[in-house]
Amino acid sequence: MKFLCVECDRQMGFAERELPGDGTLAAVFTCPACHRAVAMLTNPMETQLVASLGVKIGGRTLPEQPLELTRSALQGGREDAFAESPPAGPARPSWDAAARERLERVPLFVRGMVQRIYADYAAEHGIAQVTPEVMDQARRELGLEGM
Ligand SMILES: [Zn+2]
Repeated sequence: MKFLCVECDRQMGFAERELPGDGTLAAVFTCPACHRAVAMLTNPMETQLVASLGVKIGGRTLPEQPLELTRSALQGGREDAFAESPPAGPARPSWDAAARERLERVPLFVRGMVQRIYADYAAEHGIAQVTPEVMDQARRELGLEGM
């Protein structure tokens, strides 16, 4: 599995990945020329498919994930970043339980970004509470399939 930077016609290099326990896989590739980054997110079924095909991601095969997971979870432990909602602007939407649960399945290193995208979307649309339906709607409108 390779990614090409269309603008530079260069093969993008693997930069970062996270394999949370739920089977979701996230990998980031960057272009060596323009440093454009691309993130690949797969759901558990797709991850299993990739693993069963023995595809290498980031130069290693998937079965090594338990150790990697422990290490990255210890290093990137920003779990509490989401525990309390951000006190930012006055119009920050709340998250219902289902939406919160869904957000918690997002890989840690992109979770903050994903949360902000949905919160901004809700704020812009005058939506007081983020629900899975709002997330689906935002994904469709913003073209964020997989997030
Ligand atoms: Zn490039």
